[in-house]
Amino acid sequence: MSFDDLGLSEEVLRAVADAGYTDPTPIQAKAIPHVLMGRDILGCAQTGTGKTASFTLPMIDILAAGRARARMPRTLILEPTRELAAQVAENFDTYGKYNKLSKALIIGGQSMDDQYKLVDRGVDVLIATPGRLIDLFDRGMLLLSDVKILVIDEADRMLDMGFMPDVERIVGLLPKMRQTLFFSATMPPEIRRLADAFLMNPKEITVAPPATPLEKIFQGIVTVTRKERDRGGGYPKFKREALRALLEKEDVRSALIFCNRKRDVDILYRSLRKHGFDAAALHGDMAQSARTETLGKFKAGEIKLVVCSDVAARGIDIIDLSHVFNFDIPTHAEDYIHRIGRTGRAGREGRAFTLTTPEDDKYLHAIERLQGRKIEEFDVGLGKPGRAARTKQDDAKPEKSSSRRKSGKRARDDKQDGKPDDRQDDRRNEQRGKKPGRAGKDEAVVGMGDHVPAFMLRPARAPG
Ligand code: AMP
Repeated sequence: MSFDDLGLSEEVLRAVADAGYTDPTPIQAKAIPHVLMGRDILGCAQTGTGKTASFTLPMIDILAAGRARARMPRTLILEPTRELAAQVAENFDTYGKYNKLSKALIIGGQSMDDQYKLVDRGVDVLIATPGRLIDLFDRGMLLLSDVKILVIDEADRMLDMGFMPDVERIVGLLPKMRQTLFFSATMPPEIRRLADAFLMNPKEITVAPPATPLEKIFQGIVTVTRKERDRGGGYPKFKREALRALLEKEDVRSALIFCNRKRDVDILYRSLRKHGFDAAALHGDMAQSARTETLGKFKAGEIKLVVCSDVAARGIDIIDLSHVFNFDIPTHAEDYIHRIGRTGRAGREGRAFTLTTPEDDKYLHAIERLQGRKIEEFDVGLGKPGRAARTKQDDAKPEKSSSRRKSGKRARDDKQDGKPDDRQDDRRNEQRGKKPGRAGKDEAVVGMGDHVPAFMLRPARAPG
């Protein structure tokens, strides 16, 4: 199947060719003809599969007919995070370069005035995060009664982040006669229920997640022991030391360094700078302009290391990450897969390292269970005892918080990490650019990330 067979216009095909794409990805091949026919879509696909183009390309052609009216956008795309919204907007610029379309990005952390001015003039495409869109609507700056196409992207993340009530309210404000494209990486019953409520006779499309992306990634752990912790400075001090040793030892071209807590992002970033590393920080409390600037520099290769929280890093689309470091082990095993899946793309070998402590055992075991293989201790050359030695030394006298005393309950529900509701509030705040509340101050942020695109793992096909 080639792009020419999908029914797209000559303008869009030219833009696609300019972007260097030769073949549509499976979700593009399956979705585009149906979107062009006006059908609702229920797409089960994750970031990295090419799903953004699967809805932007046909939307550009549908929008080519007709004109925008003041304050009445013709299409609405809802995204869970600012970064994803900004990436979708970039997609419209790339693929819509031969079409005259107007768009507005309605996200928190940027001047509402500027966004309002654009909407007031009339836009074809409105790309928004739910919170800011509701703010704008409630101030009477926007009418949603002319929306012909609605896209709900990353629905499971919206649910996870506590945005669904906002999304349901927004959908209730739209005309009943519309086309709805609904995408989610997973389809738990709650998402199904929402899909049933939002969609009419949808075409269901499922694209398999990349089969075994992990094989392309070298994985290692570096354990910080209780003995080290008790030397003073606690685990973080020795984790920072181990991370520096890793950064010295490894040939790092570009890396994301994940922390579970926003507060730790700042501490680690400052520490790395102090030790002369070329690092920047990225988290949801930063001003949008600073985030955009950091991302731009990282993408351009001007910054080598970005210390980040999961939410801030969500959807960052950088093909050539050589390394991922988990300064903190993710408390949810799937987040580990998402994080490390950002390296080893485009056929390159990626390297992923995780700093662990004896208290992290349950998380480590959950990750090993999920991926069906062990992660070996990596020698950073600091004379560390290694996992086997550590197990004897450290597990001899388990401490109060040891996982072994607990049942195999999901890490996400573990009270050690704070109440799930607090965390949701924190993530909501991060999304909306607010400071987290006291309760949320130290919360872990549940991970978000994307996977290795399936088409990038397939051998290149000969032309013709
Ligand atoms: P997405 O899943 O939409 O986030 O897309 C992941 C990445 O794949 C982005 O960098 C896109 O530019 C790229 N991409 C999308 N469609 C294609 C295609 N047909 N061929 C090659 N790359 C693509």
